[in-house]
Order: sequence, then structure tokens, then C-alpha cells
Amino acid sequence: MPIVKLTDAKTLPLPDAVLEALGLMAGDSVSLEIGEDGALMVRRVVVTEPVIREATTTLQQSIHRKNLQTPMQFIKGVGPKLAEQLAKKGISVVEDALFLLPHRYEDRRSLSKVSKLRPGAHEVFYAEVLSFEAKSTKGGKRFLEVTAGDESGSITLKWFRFNPVFMKKTWRVGRKGVFTGEVVQYGFQKEIHHPEVEWLDEGADLAALTARDPLNFGRILPVYPLTEGLHQKTLRKVMKEVIDRFVIDVENHLPLGVMERHHLMPLDEALRETHFPGHDADLARLNNGATVAHKTFSFDELFFLELGLALKRSGIVLEQGIAFQVTHKYTRELLKLLPFHLTDAQRRVLSEIKNDMMLPHPMHRLVQGDVGCGKTLVALMAALVAVENDYQVAIMAPTEILAEQHFLTIHRWCDALGIKVSLLTSGMKGKAKSAVLEEIAAGRTSIVIGTHAVIQEKVEFNRLGLGIIDEQHRFGVLQRGILKRKGINPDILVMTATPIPRTLAMTVFGDLSLSVIDELPPGRTPVETRVAFESRRSQVYGIIREEVKKGRQAYIIYPLVEETEKSELKAAAQMAEHLARDVFPELRVGLLHGRMKPEEKESVMGAFKARETDILVATTVIEVGIDVPNATVMVVEHAERFGLSQLHQLRGRVGRGSGQSRCILLSSGQLSEDGEKRLRVMESTNDGFRIAEADLEIRGPGDFLGTRQAGLPDFRVANILRDGRILEAARGEAFAVVERDPGLVDGENAGLRQELVRRWGGRLELAAIA
Ligand code: ADP
Ligand code: MG
Repeated sequence: MPIVKLTDAKTLPLPDAVLEALGLMAGDSVSLEIGEDGALMVRRVVVTEPVIREATTTLQQSIHRKNLQTPMQFIKGVGPKLAEQLAKKGISVVEDALFLLPHRYEDRRSLSKVSKLRPGAHEVFYAEVLSFEAKSTKGGKRFLEVTAGDESGSITLKWFRFNPVFMKKTWRVGRKGVFTGEVVQYGFQKEIHHPEVEWLDEGADLAALTARDPLNFGRILPVYPLTEGLHQKTLRKVMKEVIDRFVIDVENHLPLGVMERHHLMPLDEALRETHFPGHDADLARLNNGATVAHKTFSFDELFFLELGLALKRSGIVLEQGIAFQVTHKYTRELLKLLPFHLTDAQRRVLSEIKNDMMLPHPMHRLVQGDVGCGKTLVALMAALVAVENDYQVAIMAPTEILAEQHFLTIHRWCDALGIKVSLLTSGMKGKAKSAVLEEIAAGRTSIVIGTHAVIQEKVEFNRLGLGIIDEQHRFGVLQRGILKRKGINPDILVMTATPIPRTLAMTVFGDLSLSVIDELPPGRTPVETRVAFESRRSQVYGIIREEVKKGRQAYIIYPLVEETEKSELKAAAQMAEHLARDVFPELRVGLLHGRMKPEEKESVMGAFKARETDILVATTVIEVGIDVPNATVMVVEHAERFGLSQLHQLRGRVGRGSGQSRCILLSSGQLSEDGEKRLRVMESTNDGFRIAEADLEIRGPGDFLGTRQAGLPDFRVANILRDGRILEAARGEAFAVVERDPGLVDGENAGLRQELVRRWGGRLELAAIA
């Protein structure tokens, strides 16, 4: 609640009328306070000039904010029913409406001649009804056919849903109106289906109509999205009211210099021009979202996003951290033990990590690399640097299976180096667990590998120096924060297998430095991927049989939307049984799912690794991290139910050795358009970046990012896919501001700070601990 303090020695002269209204006498001084309910409270105090100025600004701001929060039902023309409809679409208050931008525009500056109507275009024209008739299609479906025309020609209009009674009332030969709709071409004939009609009054002409309804004629009209069940005309009227009354309450927060450098316009002006463009506006640009106004909206949002990220990052840079020394004691030893050389990409990323670790500030680095590029090894090398300095390392994995897998790999190398590694999962109980906790607290173990849950429990480290999060495609800032508090500003390394397009990575992980492993170890053959339909099932089984005969192994993946969905779990178990009994009686079939006890899982995985089973039927628990190079076939059942990145992760389980591997995506054949697209993308490429981009295109950035989960503010207008250039420009400006004034305390920046806190809400604080 903003409190206006007027405290010092001078008085604020108020007009008599105001004094009277407020119940004050000449010579009184006041303090103003706006209550939660918007009521103005007045107290007597003494004032000075600067205090008055500040008070006026604060007061004004809070009035503006209050106005923008006006519920839609208080807008002229919005009744309870419309208010409810709008609320369902996320438009509850004036501010929501202001930023609901038109998604296209209709040019009604002048009307088309009927002979000039263009197929494929959305046209508006003035015509007279020449004839109308209810007809039937060959299939017996009734439709209304109307011929309308002007002096230049005529066109056929059709309605496939119509009311015969209403039809008789509405249609009359000679009646004149304005028609709007999309023109389609059938052979030589142009038609419009279900056009909108605006009738002229009896005896009136076009000029009269235009004069009667200037909001809908003779101008460029906005067309709004999200309006099923709502008339554009209604919405337009509401928007006009909202803009006319409230656009002045929209404040500009971008620094003037930034606005000038990037040729932006004030937000209020931009809103006005976007909702109701002037007569000479550029229609093509409006329709493409490419006007200065559009750029302004995106810039404004992205600037505040980046400003938040810049602050987080500068906080990290300023913090005191551990300056590790690179002694090579263990790292050199490990390199000698490895049966291969590091790839150039691994080497480069490793030196970036080491440079960070040597600085006296906490490292916050993201290592991004496609499935199978060798992130685990890079993580282990970083861990060794910390161990060389007598610090402990925590490695967090998203699932137990993955934690166990990491443990097996890492513990094998570390045994050879004489380094103690412990596994800590939520499945562990009683004595075994307290023994591990004790080892960690006493500093007798150097590397602790576990799941999120366990790291968050009562684990106390003796000397935590480095936290590694193998978070795959989960973007949790929260975990980072918790892990960080387990030590005194330890270094943090995040590994992700989701190849995120650059501009997106800057957004999601804007406060992290980015390293990319963009190279796979040599000798890998790309996985050959094919979509197969149910009818080919026996051939698919044939392929598995052939591979097993060659000494290879196979995965069969069963979708499980939720680990708790028992029926599907049963389906996976039944599938395994059916395969073992009826299809592959001569082969050994294993079953793995997330609800098994850790020991069971371990023994199933162990058996598969040791080639004691030929086929592993599994749910998506194997999505990440599982590494069995001898497995060369993967069959994904109901592949259409999986998301793209999930399919890519799954497929990464094969093609890990030098043998040719295959992935078969079995599908029921009833594919949605998106489902079909996803499977075809998988067939066409193995490149994680291309897949991520396709994913982004199919799903849209909101879904792809899960902004909420990432702890970032949502965008109203900005579209990261489209606005990559704007994002980079906004990032540059925001980071420059923070570099000059890290606390945002200088005059102009204080306002920025306020606005930043408002937009990020609690998320900035959450982020700040990360
Ligand atoms: P991811 O990046 O998916 O986590 P992993 O770390 O699981 O990949 O590595 C996949 C496989 O590649 C492992 O078997 C690992 O031992 C192996 N590997 C890692 N680096 C190299 C390398 N430079 N040359 C050959 N094989 C490597
Ligand atoms: Mg991995």
C-alpha cells in the first residue's frame, strides 16, 4: 500500500473546493494514503516541496495502477454475461484487455468491387441481393444460396447452417448490405461461405452506413483472437471504450535513451495505434506484427525479463566463492585410464569450466549437449577438480535409475583413483541411509550421487564445493537454490540434454554462462528411424529377432503418461509377459518400470547390461542416462503419444556403440496432425537442435519453456521465436544498465527497479537465491 508522506516544513496550497471536500482548513497540511479498497485517507501533517513532488508521483502511479486493475464488468457495454465470457478467456481487468492485441486486421478503408474480389483474401464489399434460394446438396444437406452483386458483377454466397424462418425475414431481393468473408474459388466460380452481413437501412446509402458506424467502416479494423462465441463487433466496441478511457494509465518505464536508440514509441501511443490504426497505417506490417508498436511491446517485456536475469547474474558475480586450484592430480590420472580421448568439444567445455572454478566467485554454468555427447565424463572431470582441492561434490539426477546409473559409471572410475563415492536415493532406508549421511557429514566421502529428494533432505555436507545438476529437460531454479545452500556458495554446474535454440537458452538460463558440447564421440553411426503402423508388427518383431541373433539387444518402450496409472503399468507388464510367452519364447525378456523397488530395478538393469536378457520392455524410466552400447534396436509402442524431446531422449539409448542401430516408432495409425508431424521429424533427423526447433514450432514457446516452472515472468506479447533480434537488443541494454548500476539505485533506475519487482513478483527473490 503506497503511503504518501508529507512531513517537512512547507505547506501545500490546495484550492478551496478541495479543502472543503477533504474537510480541511486553509493552512492545514495533509498526508494522503490510498487504502486497499481505493479510498483516499487524509491526515494532517506538514510538507516540503520535494516531498510534494514525490507524493504526487506516487499518488499518480497508484491511481494509474488501480485504474488498470478495473474489472471488465465496469466497462460500458460489458454486462455480467460478457464479463464472464471475457474472464474465461483471461480478460478480467482493463490491463488484460489493453494487451489483448489484434491478431489480424481488416481493411475497410474502402470497399471492394464485386468483380475485383480475390480468391483467398478476406474481402469486404457492398452489394445488393439479386436472388436467394434454399437448395439441397446431392447428399441431401440443405443450404441457402444467395447471389449478390453490384454494377461490376455478382458472387455466390452460401450458408450451410441456416434457419428457414429467419431466412424469410432476412432475405429480400433488392436489399443492400455490406458483406465480409473469405473468398474461395470453385472452378470458374467465386463463392463466400457464411459471410458476415451488415444491412443498410431502407433507402439508405453507403455513406449513411459509414457515418452511422464509424467504428466499423471506413477504417482499418482490428480482429481479435480468442473470440469464439464473441462478436468481433462487440469486442471492438469494448476495446474502443477501454482504449479511450484507460490508455493514459499505461506508464512508460523504459529509459529514454533506450527508447531513442531502438526507435521505440511510448506504450500508450503504441497501444492506441495497434488497436485502432490510423488511416495511413501499413496494413502488411500490422498483419505481420512488424510495426514499431509491436516492436515496442516485445522490447518492453524482454527488457524487463533480461533486467531480472542480469541482476541475478551480477549478484552471482559479486558473491564470494571458492577459488579452486587446478592441480591435475586426479584429472590427469583419469585421462590415462580412459580407453578413448576427449573430443575437442569436451576439452573446450572443460577448460571453460575450469576457468570458472578458478575464479573467486561462484560458477553458474550450464553445459548443454545432445544425448550421448559425453556430459557425464565432463561432469566427473569437474568433480575431480573439486576433490583435488579437498572439497566434496554433490551430483543430482532427476530419477533414481539415473542416479544409480551415474553412480555405477562414476564409482567405477573413482575406485581406480582411490576416491570415495556414495549413492543416496530416497529408496534407501534405516541404517544404510544413516551410515551414508554420517559419511557425508564427516567428510569421509568425496562425491555424493543422488536424486533431488534426497539432496533436499537432512543431508549435511562437511565441505561442499561443487554441485552438479543433471537436470535434463527440467528447468528448476529451485533445486539450484537449495543445493547452493548446502555449502558456502559452492560452484554450480547444470547439465541439460535438451538442445535449446540459442535465443531460448538466453531466456531460460539467462543467468547462467553457457557451454555447448556440439560434437559426438567418433565412431557413432546415426540411428536409422522408421515409422511403422500396427499392420507391420510381425515384421518389427522379425527385426528384433534378427538383431538378437547377431548378439545384440533390444528395448521395447511402453508409454506411461503417469507412473501412477496402474492400468497402463499393467499393460506394460502384460506386454512383457505376452512377448516372453507368445512372441519370443526362445529369448530372454526383462521388464523395467518406475514403480519397482530400487533393488529390483538395479537387478533388471544389471542383467540387461550383462547381456543376461535380450529384450528389455520398459516404460519411460529409461528415458535418460541409461547406457548399454550393445542395445541396437528400440521399438517405441504408441509412439504418437510421446513428445518430440522425449522421443529424442529415448532414441538416444541406442546408437551408443559402433553398430548400426535402429529405432522403430510404432503407431496406431490414428494420428493427429501434430502427432504425424512429430514422427516425421524423428524420421528425418538425428540432430537434437533441429528436433528442438521443430518441437518449438509445433508446441509454441510457452509450452516448450514451461515459463512458470522456469521461474520466469510470462509474456503477453513477445514471442521468442519471432523476436530473437529484439531479445538480443533488449538483453544488451538491460545488462548494460546493471553493469553501470548493479543495485539499480540511481535516479532513473529506481523506477526500473520498482517495475521489475512488480513484473517478476516473488520470482525474482526465488531466482536470486539460485
Ligand atoms: P550424455 O551426454 O548423454 O550424458 P554420456 O556421458 O552418457 O552421454 O556418454 C555416452 C557414452 O559415450 C558413454 O558410454 C561414455 O563413456 C562415452 N564417451 C564419453 N566421451 C567419450 C569420448 N570422448 N570418446 C568416446 N566415447 C566417449
Ligand atoms: Mg547423461
